[in-house]
Amino acid sequence: MGLFAARDLTAGERLIEYKGRRYGKGKLPDMGDDGVTKFLRLSDGTGIDGSGWAALANHGCDPNCELREDEESRLPKAWLYALKDVAKGEELVWDYRLDVASRTEAYADWACACGSEECRGTMADTEPFKDT
Ligand SMILES: [Zn+2]
Repeated sequence: MGLFAARDLTAGERLIEYKGRRYGKGKLPDMGDDGVTKFLRLSDGTGIDGSGWAALANHGCDPNCELREDEESRLPKAWLYALKDVAKGEELVWDYRLDVASRTEAYADWACACGSEECRGTMADTEPFKDT
């Protein structure tokens, strides 16, 4: 499963709102039996457990999209934006940069096989573990 462009897209274009159940500050969704969540933490501390079209987009270490918060709205919203021109039929991917507790968790539990030359081997944000 993944999300694919139904038409040519232009770099910088706002594509799809990241929709789903909203959670208050510091609250987390029940992960369920499969442990899968598409939870997105927003800058004000609230979050969205993604269940819309945008939540179908896969991770890629060399993404053609990014998730950005809409600063115009009072209630923060997140949108998928095209980072570069995308041809019709191409898969839309963004860099999840998952927030994980350790380097081990990053590579053992969130390994990435996106296949790009830029692949760092994990969907996690490795910035906190750079020196370890
Ligand atoms: Zn990768």
